[in-house]
Amino acid sequence: MRYWLYLAGKLAVASGFMFGVWQGLVRWLPEPEPFLSYRVSRFGQDPLWTFVILFFTLASLGLLALILLDQRYRCRTCLRRLRMPLTSGSWPSSFLVGIPKTEYICPYGHGSLRVPELHISGLQPPVWKPNDDLWTQLRKLEENRG
Ligand SMILES: [Zn+2]
Repeated sequence: MRYWLYLAGKLAVASGFMFGVWQGLVRWLPEPEPFLSYRVSRFGQDPLWTFVILFFTLASLGLLALILLDQRYRCRTCLRRLRMPLTSGSWPSSFLVGIPKTEYICPYGHGSLRVPELHISGLQPPVWKPNDDLWTQLRKLEENRG
């Protein structure tokens, strides 16, 4: 729940920022006076306005992509950035070793994200695997060893 609220918050802040940019653009490039009581649409007629709309659209989509990419590599529990990418598998011998994938882990042990790099049957989404209690598991391993 907290993970999705954080995404919604980032999207709301970005929307507010882009709305402010849009208001600034409208103020910076005001609509021209009507010609003989005929109002011409600026988009497609005015090259400057058309390029401004193009760059505004590209900037909005780029900001959305950055937000989604940032959100993908965050811990689902504590919202910290996932770290320590570990690549496993092999491209040339994927049948022997396994398909290539990268696994990221939360620095506080809440879980790990497995991102497959090989998409044979369509786009395979990354898989989040929560750790129930990593420190308890590590303590048990240490007790069994010693
Ligand atoms: Zn975490």
